[in-house]
Amino acid sequence: MDDQDGAGDQSERWVSRQSRAWTELSARYREACRQIDAPCALCGQPIDYTLSGRNRYGFTSDHIETIATGGAVLPGFDGLRPAHQKCNAARGDGTRAREMAAWGW
Ligand SMILES: [Zn+2]
Repeated sequence: MDDQDGAGDQSERWVSRQSRAWTELSARYREACRQIDAPCALCGQPIDYTLSGRNRYGFTSDHIETIATGGAVLPGFDGLRPAHQKCNAARGDGTRAREMAAWGW
C-alpha cells in the first residue's frame, strides 16, 4: 500500500510538470499562429486572437493526433493545429474528456 501512495505522488508531480510544459508550449504556439493570423484548422474560419482562450471563439491548440489515440502529450508545433475552442470541443466530444481525465484535470 505504501508503494501505491508513492506512485500517486510521482504521478501528481508528473502531471503538474507536463501541464506546465503544455501551457508554455500552447502559449508559444498561439503566438506563432497569431503572427500569421492562422485560421481554425477544423472549420476554416478566422480566429480572433484578441479573445481569451476561455471564449468559445477563442484560440486553442488542437492535437492533430489526440493523446487518447496515442499522440504525444507535448508534440511540438508540427503535431498541433490552431482551432476555435468550440470546434475543438465539438471534435473532441468524449475524447477530450478522457484526455482531461488522463491528465488529472
Ligand atoms: Zn473553428
